[in-house]
Amino acid sequence: MEERCTICNCLLHRTAGKYARPTPEGSSHATKHHYVAERFFGRSSNRKSTKHSGISEICPWGHERETAVFCYECHEKLLHNPGNYA
Ligand SMILES: [Zn+2]
Repeated sequence: MEERCTICNCLLHRTAGKYARPTPEGSSHATKHHYVAERFFGRSSNRKSTKHSGISEICPWGHERETAVFCYECHEKLLHNPGNYA
């Protein structure tokens, strides 16, 4: 099955041990991510029992808890540091 990045449409792969390597393969490794980070809703994947006040109770984009696959580059740069590209 062919998988493509939701943002840049590059062809993804899941070759073991290549994730996040400074190579074209590392950059195009598939990674699944929430559209909107769980922490924005006060949830944390590593502290499931904790519920602290998030920024928002309702997702303003209507994508709460939805996930998509992205390449490593888009995942790291656009989803984690969107301010760098504003
Ligand atoms: Zn991408």
